[in-house]
Amino acid sequence: MARTKKVGITGRFGARYGRKAKRQVKKIEENMKKKHVCPKCDRPYVKRVSAGIWECKKCGTVFTGGAYVPETPMVKAASRNIKRLVGGN
Ligand SMILES: [Zn+2]
Repeated sequence: MARTKKVGITGRFGARYGRKAKRQVKKIEENMKKKHVCPKCDRPYVKRVSAGIWECKKCGTVFTGGAYVPETPMVKAASRNIKRLVGGN
């Protein structure tokens, strides 16, 4: 009885993490389509040049950030989850 319970708890955790990661992937995909604000001139002219490289079309600043959206703590945690999700599948 006790052993079966232990396995059940771990299984439940796995399902919860998967669902959370998927929700964060959806959030990032939505963020990718939005305009990003430049850290230098504070205007929403930042465009993704390639994975992790961003350029402001207004002042010409090129900076590195997240692969999908300019760097934020939320994105950092989420991209880690994407890697885990992709690896698991
Ligand atoms: Zn700028």
